[in-house]
Amino acid sequence: MRTDRSHELLDRAQRVIPGGVNSPVRAFRSVGGEPVFYERAKGSRVWDVDGNEYVDFVASWGPMILGHAPDAVLDAVREQLELGTSYGAPCEAEVLMAEAVVEAVPSIEMVRMVSSGTEATMSAIRLARGYTGREKFVKFDGCYHGHSDALLVAAGSGLLTLGIPSTPGVTKGAAADTIVLPYNDIEAVRAAFAEQGEQIAAVIVEPVAGNMGVVPPAEGFLEGLRVVCDEYGAVLIFDEVITGFRVALGGAQERYGVMPDLTTLGKIIGGGFPVGAFGGKREIMERLAPVGPVYQAGTLSGNPVAMVAGLALIEALKQPGVYDELERKGARLEAGLRAAVEQAGVDAFLTRVGSMACMFFTAEQVRDWKTASTSDTDRYARYFRGMLERGVMLAPSQFEATFVGLAHTDDDIDRMTAAAAEVLASIE
Ligand SMILES: *Cc1c(COP(=O)(O)O)cnc(C)c1O
Repeated sequence: MRTDRSHELLDRAQRVIPGGVNSPVRAFRSVGGEPVFYERAKGSRVWDVDGNEYVDFVASWGPMILGHAPDAVLDAVREQLELGTSYGAPCEAEVLMAEAVVEAVPSIEMVRMVSSGTEATMSAIRLARGYTGREKFVKFDGCYHGHSDALLVAAGSGLLTLGIPSTPGVTKGAAADTIVLPYNDIEAVRAAFAEQGEQIAAVIVEPVAGNMGVVPPAEGFLEGLRVVCDEYGAVLIFDEVITGFRVALGGAQERYGVMPDLTTLGKIIGGGFPVGAFGGKREIMERLAPVGPVYQAGTLSGNPVAMVAGLALIEALKQPGVYDELERKGARLEAGLRAAVEQAGVDAFLTRVGSMACMFFTAEQVRDWKTASTSDTDRYARYFRGMLERGVMLAPSQFEATFVGLAHTDDDIDRMTAAAAEVLASIE
């Protein structure tokens, strides 16, 4: 595998960009070696600047569920480009997008667009606090909700694999109202509310955790959160930045039949452009400026290029059979990986919800961060490098999802699991 051009770019990048990357996990720090720089991507493939081709299971960390550069999205974007790239004024595409989101996501009655998942969760927390007049909120250990200060506590893969327990720069004050509890532990939630329920504005949760690897919700966990929030008048926020439009068109809330008060979206909804959204009950959303007192704004929010890209993608996902197909492909991947694990006789715990999957290198049953963190990350690093050498791009961290998309052919999936069998058999 040639890496000269990537190496040279990394060298230059490191002089002018901290670590050479614009988001830490891209730096390959937890898997060793140097990141490859991409030149282009199409369908299930990405190509790096040295001409190496990979079957991609990162999908830009989730958005590229149709595969890379899908024609429908490209056509919509091309058409919009001629009409202008940003207005800072209302446009029709925003209305179409809001209508599409309200139609697709069961609990959303009103929605506001932002430019990233981070902005969506940060705004949802502010809104929940403004709505309830309370200051504390609950998050779960290992769940990531973007990098705003109050949410950057015990927060998922980037921090987990860099070994930063909580980051410098977040003040005690900013983190003081964040209550961190173990994922899938409804008793801990009940206990926290029994003690300080009157002060808790919100519970924010990834309904399928996707930033400590993939950890599905335990039976009754999401339902239990709904009950506790109702009992104490707290706002239940599902952070569906990964799961929205992925585990079902209507996200995890549709899949599990539990309705939050607010939902945050990102990744897929932007069709590969920088987009986030938060929405939910009309009564809560109408507390937002300009109709209500809670301030929230954005120069590029509802950007027309991003809106038409997202709309084209959502339109494609609304076609009949799409989620059955994603389920089938996910199941094929899981079956292949299970066979590879068994054959190699390694300790691994596989999880999957639809088209998001994870292989934890541990003998434990993973249900929360404590059990996920027993994974042998060195073994994952060897696995990752073995796969890379065989032309399979996985997330450069144990604690991320493997994403299957509509562009993956059965052949792509079989190639991946065959490579996994080979690598697993050869690594310690
Ligand atoms: C990626 C992610 C975010 C943050 O989104 P950005 O667009 O990276 O700011 C928030 N929540 C979850 C669950 C995510 O996976």
